[in-house]
Amino acid sequence: MMDFITVRGAHREYQTASALRGVDLEIAGGVWCSIVGPSGSGKSTLLNLLGGLDSPTKGQVFIDGVDLRTLSENEMARFRREKIGFIFQQSYLIPYLSSLDNVMLSQYFHSMTDSSEAEEALKRVGLGHRLHHRPSELSGGEQQRVTVARALINSPKILLADEPTGNLDRENTKLIMELLKRLHEEERFTIVLVTHDPFVSKWAERIVTMEDGRIIKDEPLY
Ligand code: ADP
Repeated sequence: MMDFITVRGAHREYQTASALRGVDLEIAGGVWCSIVGPSGSGKSTLLNLLGGLDSPTKGQVFIDGVDLRTLSENEMARFRREKIGFIFQQSYLIPYLSSLDNVMLSQYFHSMTDSSEAEEALKRVGLGHRLHHRPSELSGGEQQRVTVARALINSPKILLADEPTGNLDRENTKLIMELLKRLHEEERFTIVLVTHDPFVSKWAERIVTMEDGRIIKDEPLY
């Protein structure tokens, strides 16, 4: 059986730089994998390939058995909506919408809205008392918890996170990681999380280390 995520011989060349120089990676379904490495080593580029936000100049990416090259732009957008949840360092919440509406917007783009389900998702991330607050009325940690609820509201099979705690202090980072751990245990979606923070990477079951566009180390944690 093919792994849930398979990357084969992926290169990503830019005019001025070679971001990936031959990456092979297989990740089994349900696994939580961290990607670490120095700044500029290609972590975000790799994550973007997995999310179909970018494509390799050479090589292949398969997600859940689908060769992403075979998808048209519309099919890719649909594939992303149905299978993938994203969390970035910036929350990218819509500033004039409440927490509840931000989560419901994600439901809307996926299929249809269900306010009680969205409310339940916000309660699960500990924000039952912040349903009607706008992002500016929330702390950074609370905003990031809304993005977790938003990323997971449509039950994606894969959660891609790029420095999700990059703007948070230690206490809020710990809160987010504990939250992800609980949700991952409950739902066993696959997580690929890019971070340069050892406190964050160690929550995974596997750590892949990149350097200069290549994977130089790949270790299971338990
Ligand atoms: P990391 O996430 O590990 O910091 P990136 O994947 O962002 O690394 O970048 C890897 C390399 O590719 C870097 O040298 C970066 O400058 C280069 N790069 C990334 N995106 C672009 C782009 N859009 N245009 C040109 N070079 C880029």
